[in-house]
Amino acid sequence: MSNFNILVVEDEDAIRGMLMMVLEQAGFMPIAAADAEDAQKILDDKLPDLILLDWMLPGISGAEWARRLKKEAQYQEVPIILLTARGEEEDKVRGLEIGADDYMTKPFSPKELIARIRAVLRRSGKAQGQPQIVMGDLLLDTEQHRLSINDRPVEVSPTEFRLMHFFMTHPNKVYSRSQLLDQVWGRSVYIEERTIDVHIRRLRKILEEYGREDVVQTVRGFGYRFSLVD
Ligand code: CA
Repeated sequence: MSNFNILVVEDEDAIRGMLMMVLEQAGFMPIAAADAEDAQKILDDKLPDLILLDWMLPGISGAEWARRLKKEAQYQEVPIILLTARGEEEDKVRGLEIGADDYMTKPFSPKELIARIRAVLRRSGKAQGQPQIVMGDLLLDTEQHRLSINDRPVEVSPTEFRLMHFFMTHPNKVYSRSQLLDQVWGRSVYIEERTIDVHIRRLRKILEEYGREDVVQTVRGFGYRFSLVD
């Protein structure tokens, strides 16, 4: 996986330098910016494949800039990984609510960073031809139609597999029952919305055996979200 342009937005020289080096060594093409204004200029010139964005920046904060980007159609599809020194659960949730695709707390190992970047690129569909979708300890093999958790194979029905596939390629966002119906079952299939609840319940029950039922979350009054926040 190479030739991906990664925009690195970090005000601390030492950390920015380290990130650039790690990314280059992994075969990526990083571009550096020291603040959001700088980063915006780069964006106006060329869209990167992914943005590594520090939460705390002078001027417009990383979180605020990410929120603005996710509201604009031309930037919406650029995945963002937020980097932060904070490790509060609340921040993590806020980061994901802003629309960030992933969230990493400093300090992190270069190996973990690269793995997360690859996973986000894969999920965003930028790295096509990748038959495996990995999120944390969950692995979905689209060629073999297999799901495993922590290297243990998980028995799921074809419908539940499709549901997991949709969730794992669209994490951290809330989907209503009718959206899930359209996306997972297709518009041509007539099933009632409550059927989705039945499938979600079954899926959770299966995931529960692996201690992972928390990844499928109910958002009251709206629908469901798949997220690895824990
Ligand atoms: Ca900073």
